Amino acid sequence: ARSLVDGYLTAHPGGGWLDPLSTADLLESYGLPLTTTVWARDEPTASAAATALRNLGHEGKVALKAYWPGLVHKSAAGAVRTGLAEDAEVRSAYREFMRRFGAELAGAVVQPMAAPGVELLAGVVQDQVFGPRIVLGLGGTATDVLDDRVARLAPLSERDLTTMVTELRSAPLLLGQRGGTAVDLAALRSVLTRLSLLAEDFPELVEADLNPVIVRPDGALCVDARIRLE
Ligand code: ADP
Ligand code: MG
Repeated sequence: ARSLVDGYLTAHPGGGWLDPLSTADLLESYGLPLTTTVWARDEPTASAAATALRNLGHEGKVALKAYWPGLVHKSAAGAVRTGLAEDAEVRSAYREFMRRFGAELAGAVVQPMAAPGVELLAGVVQDQVFGPRIVLGLGGTATDVLDDRVARLAPLSERDLTTMVTELRSAPLLLGQRGGTAVDLAALRSVLTRLSLLAEDFPELVEADLNPVIVRPDGALCVDARIRLE
């Protein structure tokens, strides 16, 4: 992780967003559960990756996301296609990205579709004075509409891990109080703890956004992550 961060900042002295592979490597080195993510630079590679990943996906499906450096709100830009079952769908989605985004397109990310669950966001914001702040909130498309989030300074205590969940307005969704089954809170706490360790180890990590982390009774899985170094 140290050599990845140093290498990036040497190559990009002003800082910036990590590419999909470096993001996946950094999260993986802290045991953060990012779904299998392949960065394909052309249509045949995207097609081959989709074929390889399809059986890992919920209902045998994959997601395809356009990528270029600096792309932030992918869905809003029309850069996310989910639930692709057939090779022809993957190929035509890739060609659509090429038409739409032109020379800007730097390939696409292929992932297996994750099983549905509660979409949360887990993030890091560096505070100039107090150091890293860890954020937990309702994620996915509801992120901005409902603005349900809590934040704590790292390192997170056991009590922080508990109250971050219980203070959310969405807590009943997670605790199984709306007739549903409770999500895997241990998996969620592990995401927050590992994110906190990563943020404490790397003050260069000025911003991280895992959104969504899909939490279910049987685990937690992130399907979209971005990390900015400075
Ligand atoms: P962005 O946040 O940049 O718009 P995301 O990668 O988060 O793009 O995708 C938008 C939404 O698509 C997610 O909130 C999630 O609901 C769904 N999604 C994306 N990737 C997957 C995946 N691999 N499995 C299941 N759902 C996904
Ligand atoms: Mg997202």
